[in-house]
Amino acid sequence: MKIAVFDDYRVGVVEGDQIYDVSAAFPNASGAWPPIFMTQAIADWANVRAQVEQVRSQAKPIALSSVKLLPPNPCPVQLIAAPANYRKHIAEMGAMSVTKKGRSAREQGFFMKATSSLTGPARGIELPRGSTRRFDHESELAAIIGKTARNVRREDALDYVFGYSCLIDATMRIVKDVAEEERVMRKSFDTFTPLGPWIVTADEVGDPQGLSNQLFVNGECRQDANTRDMIVGVAELIELISSVMTLYPGDVIATGTPEGIGPIKPGDKVTIRIERVGEMTVDVRETDTVPPFLFEAAQA
Ligand code: MN
Repeated sequence: MKIAVFDDYRVGVVEGDQIYDVSAAFPNASGAWPPIFMTQAIADWANVRAQVEQVRSQAKPIALSSVKLLPPNPCPVQLIAAPANYRKHIAEMGAMSVTKKGRSAREQGFFMKATSSLTGPARGIELPRGSTRRFDHESELAAIIGKTARNVRREDALDYVFGYSCLIDATMRIVKDVAEEERVMRKSFDTFTPLGPWIVTADEVGDPQGLSNQLFVNGECRQDANTRDMIVGVAELIELISSVMTLYPGDVIATGTPEGIGPIKPGDKVTIRIERVGEMTVDVRETDTVPPFLFEAAQA
């Protein structure tokens, strides 16, 4: 099943190029803040799924192209991310990376992004107006947690996955020898985590370690990899993270980017395509206002 959130926080089931409004199965959808209805529904999925199927059977199709897609879980408890996680990407980062000496998540661990950085195709990515810094795309498979996970062994870990989604980990790069700001800040600008276009449930994906992972900027292929080349796979990431903290239903794990990262600028269209998951295009623009704290490429 492909589950999307659209327009004013409505919930839909996507089939082909149609979406079916199943909001009636989500009592707290559409309007209430914070929009925790999807987190709640994933936690109670055994019951909610039957209600979704019942509502779906009565629903009329809507053209998918006519709705505004929001992140499919707009308010997870946690948004967790792996650092450089494909061997070629670590090599290309070299001295630009804060990743120490090419170590992976296995040695370096994971980091957090603000959940408030989530966005969908309806809004896209907004770069801070007036900044002269470099902002990059990172094309990542997202795993969405399905049930509370603590100290889960890797051989059991995929039982804890609800589904998968496409995730762009937008990032303000450090300026070598000048600025090495905290990673959480550089990756947590509002709209720096496009997620979508839907969550596809894990039963439709199977093994997450054999999926092509591609990203295009204005139609030009920038990243072209396969999740089999991840250094620390989804199951081992869950083992690692759940050894530190409890993972909750609806939590989003960004599993790290392959090689081919590159800059994005206002006016770009960025498309992420992950096999058996989906394809999502987001526009890049500038924020409406110039922020009072300007991030500059070089400082006096
Ligand atoms: Mn990343």
